[in-house]
Amino acid sequence: MRIAMIGTGYVGLVSGTCFSEFGIEVVCVDKDAAKIDMLKGGEIPIYEPGLDALVASNVKAGRLSFTTDLAEAMKGAQAVFIAVGTPSRRGDGHADLSYVYGAAREIAETMSGYTVVVTKSTVPVGTGREVARIIKETRPDADFDVCSNPEFLREGSAINDFMRPDRVVIGAESERAQEVMRQLYRVLYLIETPIVFTSLESSELIKYAANTFLATKITFINEIADLCEKVGADVHDVSRGIGLDGRIGKKFLHPGPGYGGSCFPKDTVALVKTAQDSGSPLRIVETVVDINDKRKKAMADKIIAACGGSVAGKTIAVLGLTFKPNTDDMRDAASLSILPALKAAGATVRAYDPEGMDEAKKLMPDLDYRDDAYATLEGADALVILTEWNQFRSLDLGRVKSLLKAPVMVDLRNIYEPAEMARAGFAYSCVGRPSVA
Ligand code: NAD
Repeated sequence: MRIAMIGTGYVGLVSGTCFSEFGIEVVCVDKDAAKIDMLKGGEIPIYEPGLDALVASNVKAGRLSFTTDLAEAMKGAQAVFIAVGTPSRRGDGHADLSYVYGAAREIAETMSGYTVVVTKSTVPVGTGREVARIIKETRPDADFDVCSNPEFLREGSAINDFMRPDRVVIGAESERAQEVMRQLYRVLYLIETPIVFTSLESSELIKYAANTFLATKITFINEIADLCEKVGADVHDVSRGIGLDGRIGKKFLHPGPGYGGSCFPKDTVALVKTAQDSGSPLRIVETVVDINDKRKKAMADKIIAACGGSVAGKTIAVLGLTFKPNTDDMRDAASLSILPALKAAGATVRAYDPEGMDEAKKLMPDLDYRDDAYATLEGADALVILTEWNQFRSLDLGRVKSLLKAPVMVDLRNIYEPAEMARAGFAYSCVGRPSVA
């Protein structure tokens, strides 16, 4: 089989590469010529563990190639996947579908023979039908079906998530399209992955419902963490105590500075908009969005409080800038709200991240960036842990203490134990557990 993958970002590049690993011939297309040049030269434009080796082996096997020319990619393709960005539209928070609809028009102009057009991007209910309308309008003679196949991979573990997903969701309404999709996912079918066939609308909504549910779960435990701090409980004990209940589940019950990243913030807001427009508001999700926004400010206040009530004239060392570990993705990272708030309160912010600094420098040019964790600490008034990269989990606490001006640590990911920090002589603040003065 042969497919075209439009968009070589976090989703398109991983999905395209994994499909080629399944034995399918994949041509990945992107408008960004610099990205395609890098890929053709054997470089990977994003940081995703294991992706470089998988791309290299599939390119070598002749199953995976890259181009900026959609017409070339579409030649002989039984399916074309749209994996372009759907960011928040400026002003109103609806998903910006201009890239998706742009791709639909280009597909219509280049398709020949029966083609399944698949939206892999996260798109609001109704988008698939609009894609079909655009294609029909542009090419009344086109022979095609539109499918929805939302992607559930997580950055940082994207390859494993794609190759061994909990389920595959496919909105496909014709037998012909279902058969093409079944063939594409044959390898997963063989390992008994549940494949959920639905209508276009249900499939589109499943993706948003899943992401907003997870965002709600995170927000719930974050609020429980705040309550724990007030009443002297430990949120980790509470998480374990509730998570062992099979109806609740253990995952996504880890408190932190609020959810961020390329999906949850924009998808929660977009679903709120869809629901409002449909006359069926999702008041829980509206509240989740509001709580999560306010949490970023609360985290800046927490850091300021740990520094004795003011950071004016102080230097704050920050470890971790990306929205989570094992990615270079800075989109809607908590750091983007918290660090400017510290700067506005008069602090100098010194920062280090293993993979996110190139992007962070574009978004926050006025931070003082350092090349490693310990270089960030020298003479700083406090250390803040913002992203739980593995290399920050086992810092030499003696060295940290000797480098800092004062032994103050604010751990917004709870990667250290309060008792251990007390023994090491730190004033230690964390989330939802008793602080060490
Ligand atoms: P991204 O911004 O990393 O990549 C999108 C790519 O599409 C860019 O390289 C861009 O140049 C390219 N592009 C845009 N229009 C094009 C066109 N007409 N022709 C060719 N290329 C074009 O985005 P992403 O993070 O991969 O997300 C893509 C979609 O997948 C979004 O809808 C997102 O919500 C969804 N999603 C993302 C994740 C994730 O973890 N990043 C997970 C699941 C779903």
